[in-house]
Amino acid sequence: MTHATETVRVAIPRPLHALFDYSVPDALAGPVVGARVIVPFGRQRLTAICVGQNPTDVHPRLKPISAVLDSENAFGNELYELALWLAEYYHHPLGEVLGTILPVAARREAKFIIHHPETWQRTEKPADITRAPKQQALIDYIEAEGGVLEAAQLRAAGFTRTIIRAVAGKGLIVATEPAPALEQLATTQPVLNSEQTQVVAALIQHLDGFAPSLLDGITGSGKTEIYLRLIERVRAQGRQVLVLVPEIALTPQTVARFRDRFGVAEVLHSNLTDNQRLQTWLKCKRGDIGILIGTRSAILTPFANLGLIVVDEEHDSSFKQTDGLRYSARDVAVKRAQNLNIPLLLGSATPSLESLLNAHNGRYRHLKLTKRAGGAELPSFHLLDIRGHRLTDGLSAPLQQIIGKHLKAGSQVLVFLNRRGYAPSYLCPQCGWRATCPLCDMPMTLHKTPAALICHHCARREFPPSVCTACGKPSPIAIGIGTQRAAEGLSLLFPDMPLYRIDRDTTRSQRRMEEQFMAIRQGHPAILVGTQMLAKGHHFPNVTLVAVLNADGGFCSADFRAPERIAQLIIQVAGRAGRAERPGEVWIQTYQPENPLLLSLITQGYESFAFSELASRKRAGLPPYRPMAMLRAESRDTALPMAFLSDIRSALSGEFEVLGPAPAPIQRINDRNRFQLLMLADDRRMLHRGLHRLQEKIASEKPLPTNLRYSLDVDPYDTF
Ligand code: ADP
Ligand code: ZN
Ligand code: ZN
Repeated sequence: MTHATETVRVAIPRPLHALFDYSVPDALAGPVVGARVIVPFGRQRLTAICVGQNPTDVHPRLKPISAVLDSENAFGNELYELALWLAEYYHHPLGEVLGTILPVAARREAKFIIHHPETWQRTEKPADITRAPKQQALIDYIEAEGGVLEAAQLRAAGFTRTIIRAVAGKGLIVATEPAPALEQLATTQPVLNSEQTQVVAALIQHLDGFAPSLLDGITGSGKTEIYLRLIERVRAQGRQVLVLVPEIALTPQTVARFRDRFGVAEVLHSNLTDNQRLQTWLKCKRGDIGILIGTRSAILTPFANLGLIVVDEEHDSSFKQTDGLRYSARDVAVKRAQNLNIPLLLGSATPSLESLLNAHNGRYRHLKLTKRAGGAELPSFHLLDIRGHRLTDGLSAPLQQIIGKHLKAGSQVLVFLNRRGYAPSYLCPQCGWRATCPLCDMPMTLHKTPAALICHHCARREFPPSVCTACGKPSPIAIGIGTQRAAEGLSLLFPDMPLYRIDRDTTRSQRRMEEQFMAIRQGHPAILVGTQMLAKGHHFPNVTLVAVLNADGGFCSADFRAPERIAQLIIQVAGRAGRAERPGEVWIQTYQPENPLLLSLITQGYESFAFSELASRKRAGLPPYRPMAMLRAESRDTALPMAFLSDIRSALSGEFEVLGPAPAPIQRINDRNRFQLLMLADDRRMLHRGLHRLQEKIASEKPLPTNLRYSLDVDPYDTF
């Protein structure tokens, strides 16, 4: 008798483009596509994924697979199809795509089992145990509590394991699965204002079918309230909802709002253990979880019955993965909603140029909220020309006065600058020596308490020398301002004010960060100093002044997305001001008060800025008008990457415009020399055709030198 499946083709969760064939021994049932299998691979045993049955033209002598872990597609058909699309769109090995999707715990040789807490249910059988009063008491207790109870609760009530087992032995109770936690809608909801009412009405017209919408609403306009109303509708249909957010750790408030409204909402973020992740994955797959809130990777969760995807702060860079499978969770969300034929809601006060263009072209519905919910006003913007001013720890005299005025009025003040540490450089005033990272050729940032020179690119740490390393003269000096220095200066100026510094150095502990945010929300007059961590979605009702210490850097950067990014950052951080009764002000210190981008942003607003930026992208033939991909090569060796990229370039023609090879803007990081090729095509089809050719060329180069690494990034977010 012959097997139905004699051979299988599998993908290995490694960065290998090749697929591998194995035979299926008689003793095993042939795996279906998408099932996990254990295979011998070199000297290892690996968990691989079956991607084809009985492939044609296989090698006559194949090694057998060792085990089959799943009787069905482990991903579910829909997610598996998405994986195939990801592999094609990002030109990434299928094995690594599937490996990225699978939770780490599922790569070990484990069966998919949902772990429930031990739970007991009263059966129909009449209890005749009056001679066992303890057992009778247990029956009475379970019945009084509704017939189903967790063992933990029984034990807390004083029933030992022995009693539980005895009652179960008589068939009076049986082990069961707990009912999933019930969602319960909060009884009070704010009354929607007229703009919100219109937006909700427009959205609920399209709950069936692919309907992408951009919710373009200013900071504090009540976008979250819109998500909640829409989710309520979709949950009423019994369908699941996925909400993607940039960073859960930074904004526990958001999750709290979902839980307040619905009673339950599961969260998927990076602090979970491997097993917790797998459990959430499996429960979503089975349909047990109604609302899942998660960061980037949550877009790769299987669902039984997904009915809506929401992407909050859709412009945020954290939705783009920057290593391995370099996917954009926002873009994948669009594809997935399309495959599933469900609505998609992208929300932001500062939409990405990609999404704005899609809205402008009519591919997305463009829904706007132009007023703050609950009546608060948007803050007023002011530029502070600091040419010729003497700055004390980054603060000009007029800014110091403005800060003092707000504090005196009993408000909170937020001082923003996007650089942590004490000072971005440490140099010798005698000879000009500057502390530089030997592995990155970049200036090292001076930190205080504890004193250190830290490279922000490779994290190398040195003790700051008290004499110049080059000329031996004493006292190198700190140049420029980081958050530590601004905080130090502010606490000298306002010694009695509480001061909270929020940056990656002060928020390493989640608990400490939450304590700080909680203290800030108490609303007492205080100074908040921090990086972009302060810009993200926080609601601090008592902040009336936002001061931006230096806006210029971002507008002069080499990266084509830099103006978009700095504009989003300024608008987002400004959006923290005046969110309650008292109006807010934003003051921006600048050496370039005539910078047209900055002027258009603050006088005409984000949308106007965005459209003029779109116009210049169009003239330059850049995304979102033309799709882009970046091939990067890096090596300890200085010549290899350049030679490799030049060789690849020679094989490319026609499909796209190729820029480079050129050194990356940061040419050396961690002793790796980085070079890149940028490719721009007139449309997606051409880009894909060109990238296929590029990959064939790379494949023909094999074997590549072992000290050369390369990566392909489709739709790169930044080109550093
Ligand atoms: P966004 O997400 O657009 O920044 P939020 O949804 O966080 O805005 O809303 C800002 C504040 O306004 C929140 O405190 C929210 O509870 C409140 N809010 C939202 N909608 C209303 C409404 N219709 N009436 C009163 N307050 C509202
Ligand atoms: Zn010197
Ligand atoms: Zn370094």
